[in-house]
Amino acid sequence: MASIFTKIINGEIPCYKIAENEDFFAFLDINPNAKGHTLCIPKKEVDKITDLDEDTYSGLMSFARKVAKALEASVPCKRIGMTVIGLEVPHVHVHLIPLNEMKDATFQHKVSLKQSEFEAIAESVRAKM
Ligand code: 5GP
Repeated sequence: MASIFTKIINGEIPCYKIAENEDFFAFLDINPNAKGHTLCIPKKEVDKITDLDEDTYSGLMSFARKVAKALEASVPCKRIGMTVIGLEVPHVHVHLIPLNEMKDATFQHKVSLKQSEFEAIAESVRAKM
């Protein structure tokens, strides 16, 4: 069965899209640690990042860095944290999290955003890509 992220790539589930190319896709996390929390994924559906082939792994990190720079230019923060967890969704994803305090990196503290706020962030990051 297709992962929830494959359904997002295919447009079967809506998302706040940030960027896409032939192999990778970036969109806002629906339950963000901080405003601007973004997920970068390969279109190829693989569970663990350590199981990606070398080209997809390096391509994903390069894509994530580009998105992180646009995010950092759009959202006030000290830096963008990059982390890989994968306990919830078995489709590789790199979390890009605008960090101001350590708690933003913990996944224990969540922020609630209105649809209009998600849309505004996504538009602002897209404009910086
Ligand atoms: P992990 O697998 O790294 O533990 O966490 C998965 C992440 O995906 C979580 O931060 C969660 O909020 C996010 N997520 C899960 N389902 C959806 C979804 O349908 N849409 C979006 N945009 N994010 C999701």
